[in-house]
Amino acid sequence: MWKNIVAAPADSILGLTEAFRNDPNPQKVNLGVGVYKDDAGKTPILACVKAAEKLLLERETTKSYLPISGDPVYAACVQKLLFGEDGEVVANRRAATVHAPGGTGALRVGADLLKKFMPKATVWLSSPTWANHKGVFATAGFPLSEYAYYDPATKDVDFAGLTRDLQAIPAGDIVLFHTCCHNPSGVDLDQGQWREIVEIARERGWLPFLDFAYQGFGIGVEEDRYAVEQFAASGLDFLVASSFSKNFGLYNERTGALTVVSPTAAESTVAMSHLKTVVRVIYSNPPAHGGLVTATILSDPDLHRQWLGELAAMRERIVAMRSALVDGLNARGVAGDFSYIKRQRGMFSFSGLSDATVAWLRQHRNIYVVGGGRINLAGLTSKNIDYVCDAIAEALR
Ligand code: PLP
Repeated sequence: MWKNIVAAPADSILGLTEAFRNDPNPQKVNLGVGVYKDDAGKTPILACVKAAEKLLLERETTKSYLPISGDPVYAACVQKLLFGEDGEVVANRRAATVHAPGGTGALRVGADLLKKFMPKATVWLSSPTWANHKGVFATAGFPLSEYAYYDPATKDVDFAGLTRDLQAIPAGDIVLFHTCCHNPSGVDLDQGQWREIVEIARERGWLPFLDFAYQGFGIGVEEDRYAVEQFAASGLDFLVASSFSKNFGLYNERTGALTVVSPTAAESTVAMSHLKTVVRVIYSNPPAHGGLVTATILSDPDLHRQWLGELAAMRERIVAMRSALVDGLNARGVAGDFSYIKRQRGMFSFSGLSDATVAWLRQHRNIYVVGGGRINLAGLTSKNIDYVCDAIAEALR
């Protein structure tokens, strides 16, 4: 069957990781990957996760199927993370949450759900966006379009272009946003800008879909959910895809959730019934472990506190690496203002490095950066920061 079929192209970022792995140079640095790394260059298991796993090992009595929507305690924990302990949405039962396999799974469940009821919609993505957004929504059968987001000239959000585009999107289309820590640019919307976007959504009648893959990696768990809170307060319909891959370090446990928020509890019940039919035919019910770990942590005050501390440590290390990179380039007299790197949020940065510089760094210094100049700050450590700053300074000289 496969003899006459051309192989599909490899995923560009995973291809970079493969090349990095095969590079024998001990000084090599990988700034391309999409996972958090500590100062030793490792992607650690959080101590709160290990503690929760010990508890689960003692308490678990069955490996029987979870409900189609997943563990109800997990869904309640996800809703508290999204809307707060006393969130109005939770009190009024306006949200339907299903445990999905990772943020990607949540996006796909949302896409399949929406395709049933909005078959003619176009999905609007930020320019640029995480490459997999295109694949997920196109595979679900949606035509795609882009709204202005990142302005390379100002290294900031092109807010005039963004509002112009959002105002022209017709009712019945779907608009995907990065709730915080925009991937790949690291450039986020501020609170006033989010309020304007909510107003445009209300006026125009398109459906907001929030991708929330980095809650707690920007400013903090509560600060990062500002957009969710504003859409919740608006009373509009919207969706949120949560991922706990990064903020709980549960990458390979495929832990995420899709939450559909509706104006009333009655509508939310209908949404949940259709969510279950979508999940049933894709993976029937979710993998339990990651959700049980997350729910165990979030339901236990001590573990919850420990998680917030470990999350803050990850966030602060990334912020420290942003400063070290900018200060290191300035100290080496590299021409140009790199202060925008300090203003960006989350793990990623549009570094401003050209494709020619990216190629030079890889060829001559074994430093791996994704084409387009996106760097993962978590690939920097106290041991390699000087090497990387020296290399960039030389490349730009
Ligand atoms: N959305 C964005 C913007 C991401 O960057 C990622 C992961 O890199 C995801 C969603 C998916 O996360 P997960 O690994 O949980 O599927």
